Amino acid sequence: MQKGNIGVTTDNIFPIIKKFLYSDHEIFVRELVSNAVDATQKLKTFASVGEFKGELGELKVSVSIDKEKGTLTFSDRGIGMTAEEIEKYINQIAFSGAEEFLDKYKNDAAAIIGHFGLGFYSSFMVSKKVEIVTLSHKEGAEAVKWSCEGNPEYTLEPATRDSRGTDIILYIDDENQDFLETSRIEGLLTKYCKFLPIDVVFGKEQEWKDGKYVDTDKDKLINETAPAWTKKPADLKEEDYKKFYSTLYPMSDEPLFWIHLNVDFPFKLTGILYFPKLKANIEPTRNKIQLYSNQVFVTDSVEGIVPEFLTLMHGVIDSPDIPLNVSRSYLQSDGNVKKISSHITKKVADRLQEIFKEDRKQFEEKWDSLNIIIQYGMLTDEKFYERAEKFVLLKNSDNQYFTIEEYKTLIESSQKDKDDTLVYLYSTDREHQYSYIDAAKSKGYDVLMMDGQLDVHFLGKLEQKFEKSRFVRVDSDVVEKLIPKDTHKQVELSEDERTAIQQVFSSQLPKDEKKNFIVTFEALGESAQPVMVTQSEYIRRMKEMSAMQPGMNFYGELPDSFNLVLNTEHALVKRILEDEKSACGEKLAPVLANIDAAKSKRDALKKAHEKLKAEEIPTAEKEEIDNSNTQITELEAQRNSILADYATSNKLVSQLIDIALLSNGMLKGESLSNFIKRSVEML
Ligand code: ADP
Repeated sequence: MQKGNIGVTTDNIFPIIKKFLYSDHEIFVRELVSNAVDATQKLKTFASVGEFKGELGELKVSVSIDKEKGTLTFSDRGIGMTAEEIEKYINQIAFSGAEEFLDKYKNDAAAIIGHFGLGFYSSFMVSKKVEIVTLSHKEGAEAVKWSCEGNPEYTLEPATRDSRGTDIILYIDDENQDFLETSRIEGLLTKYCKFLPIDVVFGKEQEWKDGKYVDTDKDKLINETAPAWTKKPADLKEEDYKKFYSTLYPMSDEPLFWIHLNVDFPFKLTGILYFPKLKANIEPTRNKIQLYSNQVFVTDSVEGIVPEFLTLMHGVIDSPDIPLNVSRSYLQSDGNVKKISSHITKKVADRLQEIFKEDRKQFEEKWDSLNIIIQYGMLTDEKFYERAEKFVLLKNSDNQYFTIEEYKTLIESSQKDKDDTLVYLYSTDREHQYSYIDAAKSKGYDVLMMDGQLDVHFLGKLEQKFEKSRFVRVDSDVVEKLIPKDTHKQVELSEDERTAIQQVFSSQLPKDEKKNFIVTFEALGESAQPVMVTQSEYIRRMKEMSAMQPGMNFYGELPDSFNLVLNTEHALVKRILEDEKSACGEKLAPVLANIDAAKSKRDALKKAHEKLKAEEIPTAEKEEIDNSNTQITELEAQRNSILADYATSNKLVSQLIDIALLSNGMLKGESLSNFIKRSVEML
């Protein structure tokens, strides 16, 4: 028997493997199965070039558990190793600058394993002892057994092994007994080895017999050795892509489209990316893109490798050229990875463009599911924006789809305002904003539907990109003013009339801390609505934005601000004004006269004070101004209460307000029921 020390220049690698690499223990499964698969593939290659002339036999990798012995064994029928090869490949691990590196990456098992080619040694993360029993494929080779108990000493001795290949036997340590559970190992094999190119078997298929499950003599196969992405697109049918999708994500809806990636230069990359049918609320953690390296599963966190917006896609990327065993931050700065990322972006855009061109109907049908990824891409990736500009679709309130160019042509003649700015009207809710959409349409305008999750951001982006254009929500103003033209009519009301009618209406508005109403006037013609509720585009967008960005709460906490717009040309509004005059005229006259008197007295004093320095103003006069102000406030309160009393007595006022609230979806609960009662009374 030969004894020796493993060629490690740092004191002892084992404590590091065992202790420091406390995360990712499970990857030893991937490492050992990959080694077994590699050894098997090498043998196949040797056979195909005539270097190996023996029988290949059945080539498979088997994994097995022996609970009694406490071992987990990985067996293959690959090339095997001679004693010299064990010496060379297993015993001599070259470490340079090891300590420094280990210290830096002590929490990143993948980085360490990658850096040192520690694949095989990862077995010590879970084992107190590891044995290799191997027989090389070379003619006349003799079987050897290597054994090591997690310290730098190893033994190497002759062994018996009938057939070519290697067994790696792990004596699982006390802390990691879970790796002796069938379900645990099966789970890990399924995760990492599902698409390896050589059969991987784990135990036997079972069947139900005499009231319990028993092993059959059929091997339980873990993997599919030729998954769809490794085949040529020409050899695959639509069903094959769909079937592969459901292998990846059982129980998911069918994908919309897919892209078969196949790059040879300047890097190697294959894969299939699917456009999923996204639900209204995206679940970014489900069905993630899986990253493989030569069919070995590496990770499903592809951040940094594919652009952020494409992480919403599903599927598989396989590239031996992505430096997988390095830390994430390193990955993102890697030149190859950057190229891969922009290549994928380009491919996705090209494919969408192609489908758009070849089958616009299908593209439109699937648009509502597609748009979130496309908009996300256009928002976050300028290159993608430029490509997607040609096929991104805008949907109007009649469910018609337009490209940006087409839509511009559609509205250009009718939706320019007096400053030649093109106004895009949009709605965020077909039901709630129905009457506004209707009004805009009957004026010959077109209204876009912007009710998707990203639409608010997206229209902000378009507004930045489009020249001389503006997006205006259809309920942000009365239809006459949505797109201001030169012909806007002036309201003909005196100051007193304005104040009176303003008070009449505001006294009857709903009292709600979260809603602010301002009564305004417009001359909109006899046939337009008498009263309408609109909401300022600016405040509303600010609130919407702040709702999505935690920390920007200022706007979020402002009450919603609405305008109650009175159409001064409508007969009903006119009638209320006339009626108010005859009902309140006498009572109001002295109050108004007193307000006027108090105001002119105060204003005269103020005017005189303008010429004086602050210290020259007599104290008595300052007091007089204060008194006048108090008087004015009191008188105004009197006036307002007269007007409020009148407003309460005239049901028409509340009725008109409620109708306006109702058509904006804002009349609910008790107010709604009061409205119905009042309507019946008035009929
Ligand atoms: P890597 O696989 O990255 O080279 P490992 O530590 O996993 O690093 O393996 C070191 C070497 O040991 C391999 O390159 C291979 O030559 C040899 N080896 C490991 N496992 C096997 C096996 N199952 N059959 C044959 N040779 C193996």
